Amino acid sequence: MKLHEYQAKQIFASYGIRVPEGGWVKKPEEAYEVARKLGGEQFVVKAQVLAGGRGKAGGIKLCKNAEEVFKESQQMLGSRLRTHQTGAEGVVVNALLVERAVRIKRELYLSLTIDRSIELPVILASAQGGVEIEELAREKPEAILKLHFEPEIATSQFLGRKLAYRMGLTEKATGEYIALVGRLTKLFLEKDCSLVEINPLVLTEEETIIALDAKMNIDENALFRQKELASQRDTSEDTPQEAKAKDVGISYVHIGGSVGCMVNGAGLAMATMDLIKLAGGEPANFLDVGGGATAQQVEAAFNILLSDKNVRSVLVNIFGGIARCDVIAQGIIEAAKKVKINLPVIVRLEGTNAEIGRKMLAESGLKFETASSMKEAAEAAVKASSK
Ligand code: ADP
Ligand code: MG
Repeated sequence: MKLHEYQAKQIFASYGIRVPEGGWVKKPEEAYEVARKLGGEQFVVKAQVLAGGRGKAGGIKLCKNAEEVFKESQQMLGSRLRTHQTGAEGVVVNALLVERAVRIKRELYLSLTIDRSIELPVILASAQGGVEIEELAREKPEAILKLHFEPEIATSQFLGRKLAYRMGLTEKATGEYIALVGRLTKLFLEKDCSLVEINPLVLTEEETIIALDAKMNIDENALFRQKELASQRDTSEDTPQEAKAKDVGISYVHIGGSVGCMVNGAGLAMATMDLIKLAGGEPANFLDVGGGATAQQVEAAFNILLSDKNVRSVLVNIFGGIARCDVIAQGIIEAAKKVKINLPVIVRLEGTNAEIGRKMLAESGLKFETASSMKEAAEAAVKASSK
């Protein structure tokens, strides 16, 4: 789950991490008010969308006074912002962060994430921030320091020291940097983050260290114990299908082809998409109803698939391990009765109670094509989608 910059900065501040003074708003009048209260001579108006690359795309505006802040806010709110991370349609800007402009001396980079390959958190730090880290990794990998750590030692100053002395900072800023790494590491672990990224982390003309940008992603699997954060989720950028899927607890990713897939288990879902490609088709989506899918979730999954106008055929591929095939069959039948399914549906059931499930489908009076192997099912679904 992604947080907005303004949400992440509020959490940063609660951990004692310095961020520019400012406030988030949803109306130009509020933006004006924030700027007026801040006072000073330079402000930044920042589009709050769940994507990076705003600077280059016109989503960050420098303003000289509250009137300018008002004008820029008026232009930005409600407009669509297209960055290299949003896709061609872009996303609507619903909120802004109005901040005091910081006098930047140097831009650094600092982030924490999980290195899955060795199952440890890792800090990435660079004395060269501001640019995209992917670009830096390609062109100058030696400029990025990587420091893996055991969560147990995260609170000691050891990590911060190891990095700080390689950032080329003065003594004062070095002290701040060390403290920052400690605080950010604590935040990363306590909030179950999959990523926190500060790009740029800024050394100001006054020799202080300040987080100018803030990106924070929370591990979805930890949201049950991060209720406060979970309640901050912004679903306004989700497609209706994605929002519905989150509501009922199934994983759905829109892809864009014509063969809708309903599968249980992420691995099987990926294998199913591979087989569709192999058969010459394009999957419309990734959809994992989960190991213990209920009839209700299956029904919701059908609704999601059928609301995608590109879908021309549906492939249901279920392995009954934890889920029972008769429960799945029941869900399919119920859904088919409620939602008018005018598309060919190819079903492959295998595993626990597969016989019963197949029998139920056959006797339902509804038109389902059943297949006995995955390959056969994929081929039939692709064929049906091209008719
Ligand atoms: P994004 O990563 O989406 O482009 P950033 O928050 O990193 O957005 O902002 C892009 C650039 O805008 C920064 O690298 C910095 O140069 C400038 N900027 C952002 N916020 C401020 C601020 N408060 N004061 C001064 N400059 C800023
Ligand atoms: Mg940035």
